[in-house]
Amino acid sequence: FAPWADATAVPFIAVKNVTKKFGDFVAVDNLSLNIYPREFFALLGASGCGKSTLLRMLAGFEQPTSGEIVLDGQSLAGIPPYRRPVNMMFQSYALFPHMTVENNIAFGLKQDGMPKPQIAERVDQMLRLVKLDKFAKRKPHQLSGGQRQRVALARSLAKRPKVLLLDEPLGALDKKLREETQFELMDLQQQLGLTFVVVTHDQEEAMTMADRIAVMAHGKVIQVATPPEIYEAPNSRFVADFIGDVNIFDGTVTSAGNGTVDIATEAGFSVRVASSEPPAAGTKAGLAIRPEKIRVGRDKPACAPLNAAEGEIWDIGYLGDMTIFHVRLKDGKVIKASSMNAVRAVEDPLGYDQQVWVSFDENAGVLLKD
Ligand code: ATP
Repeated sequence: FAPWADATAVPFIAVKNVTKKFGDFVAVDNLSLNIYPREFFALLGASGCGKSTLLRMLAGFEQPTSGEIVLDGQSLAGIPPYRRPVNMMFQSYALFPHMTVENNIAFGLKQDGMPKPQIAERVDQMLRLVKLDKFAKRKPHQLSGGQRQRVALARSLAKRPKVLLLDEPLGALDKKLREETQFELMDLQQQLGLTFVVVTHDQEEAMTMADRIAVMAHGKVIQVATPPEIYEAPNSRFVADFIGDVNIFDGTVTSAGNGTVDIATEAGFSVRVASSEPPAAGTKAGLAIRPEKIRVGRDKPACAPLNAAEGEIWDIGYLGDMTIFHVRLKDGKVIKASSMNAVRAVEDPLGYDQQVWVSFDENAGVLLKD
């Protein structure tokens, strides 16, 4: 499933040069992106980056100041929310507290004037879909947080929208329930074949659920890519730093050629990194390396002095599934390395203050040109 990789695929939602201003403040800044049918698409960014405003424009609760949104080949300009084939799922506290689960789900259908027998059938279907058929007669306060979330989901799906918009859908749930519900949402989306657009500031949530993620900052999209691409090939310092843990080494390019570039880092050692378009010698550049790509060992690695540095173990964080090492280099810079405990040699574990070497492969890092 990768319609975005097919140049002939027609986007289901096309956001074209959309700007949204509140007074002088630019909340969404000349933003364009395409979302494909049946895609699970995540808008990810820090608070205030404009992701909810973009979602609200898709829903029709806000109008773009300029630019256009096209859905299924039709411009949405001037089309009110209730006439759009999209629905927004609100957090569970938006349920009507005095109504039973089934009446909550039926509410929108009644408003649309759907005949009673059809409503009953649709509500039944939705209850089974979210596995709440035994809870039809309960009120929201008689349900758990996760069950309430599923009622909210059933209610937003009852009208069979083509696109479901979800704003921080799992924000109110605790960690364990959130993880379970992420997988339920993915299953549901696949079963129904709908397009989902989810807003979240939780990168793990976006990485787990989405086919593609748009990383946003200051009203702009910085990178749109699949979760592995975003993590392993960030297009900028911002994305490398925003997603997951990373070590960034800044320095100056000393030589380039043959698909690699050498950088003398400010941390006092030289790195060689793979690059198809190496920057010229003398240019400032950075190298981003994920902690799990860094080896920590007692022995001097064969690649030294390239891609290797000496230091001492400064901190050790045991997380159960993995251990995080903070290694302090001679110049004082602290490098973060991690290793999975399943493969760690536990007979003789590394300890505090131990002298070690950190090292990594040429293709382990990403060259940052910004
Ligand atoms: P959060 O995760 O905190 O909800 P967000 O990325 O969803 O953040 P938005 O809600 O889209 O951010 O808001 C983007 C910016 O626009 C914010 O600085 C916010 O203060 C501003 N903003 C949003 N709605 C309005 C409004 N109706 N009037 C004025 N400013 C607004």
